[in-house]
Amino acid sequence: KKKNRLSIEEYKSGVLSGDRVALSRAITLVESTLDEDNELAAQLIDELYQYTGNSFRVGITGVPGVGKSTFIESFGSHILAEGKKLAVLTIDPSSQKTGGSILGDKTRMEKLSQSKNAFIRPSPSGDALGGVAQKTRESMLLCEAAGFEVIFVETVGVGQSETAVKNMVDFFLLLMLAGAGDELQGIKKGIMEMADTIAINKADGSNIESAKRAKKEYQNALHLFPANENGWIPEVKICSALEDNGLSDIWQLLKEFQSQQKESGFFDQNRKEQSVHWMHQTIHHFLKRNFYKSPEIKENLLKFEDAVRKGDKHSVQAARILLQNYFNKLS
Ligand code: GDP
Repeated sequence: KKKNRLSIEEYKSGVLSGDRVALSRAITLVESTLDEDNELAAQLIDELYQYTGNSFRVGITGVPGVGKSTFIESFGSHILAEGKKLAVLTIDPSSQKTGGSILGDKTRMEKLSQSKNAFIRPSPSGDALGGVAQKTRESMLLCEAAGFEVIFVETVGVGQSETAVKNMVDFFLLLMLAGAGDELQGIKKGIMEMADTIAINKADGSNIESAKRAKKEYQNALHLFPANENGWIPEVKICSALEDNGLSDIWQLLKEFQSQQKESGFFDQNRKEQSVHWMHQTIHHFLKRNFYKSPEIKENLLKFEDAVRKGDKHSVQAARILLQNYFNKLS
């Protein structure tokens, strides 16, 4: 692994020049779990930070099969057609647990991946989801420094990574299907509540009528949620990613959101709150990682687990002793 590492200057100039190979390698550095890579990655982010923040960050989620990759492929072409550079980052929580992936190994978004103005990066495999989301956020910053103007953060809508994505994007798009029977099945209300827009995909052929019905139902469901403080009223759209129908409307809507929110100041305010959120995330992640890596804890953890199992210690008691030991060693 070591021999593949570039110098900080090489990473920096490579990323800033928009070189996709350098960007890829910088992301690999950010995703690494080696301490020395982490040091270098942190330094790189520090140096590039002033060049970040200039993109429109869009989260896209939906259950497997809803048409995310088809959507991103078609939707992306509208963005590329405006001469904009588009990066697509993916978080797939399934790949962290099982090594397998809900998103599959097939080549996704083939057309986009051939465009020189697009950059597609699949999900990192990693330890805890929190850490992976954080790495995705840092990868997003690198993409911005490399000049990408629109960034999609794609996630599998199974309820694990959506909150993390919501906390790193400006706009959250939920893809759904018109289902037979209960239209609200299969998707958690909490995810709907996060959506700035719901797009009902596969509204083509014999699906159009049911998509229109679903649109009404989702619209009614959205009305039940409390209003957003930013004044944005989420809409429900129908589209066909396959036939490229309704996608330019959705892109217009996103742009409307962006200009409206920038004008009202909520765009920046949201970014600031997100920065604070990520500061805390970083602290949580760092503490947790260091705690479990520390020799004293490694040495005692199994014993304490056993003691809790046997009932010799109760869980809170065991946790407190371990924490005390850890923090005493530090001070
Ligand atoms: P993902 O798992 O969410 O990324 O979904 P895919 O993009 O891989 O799509 C799953 C299946 O649905 C594929 O067979 C697509 O061809 C199909 N599909 C995607 N979008 C549409 C659409 O708008 N209409 C129709 N009829 N099929 C679609």
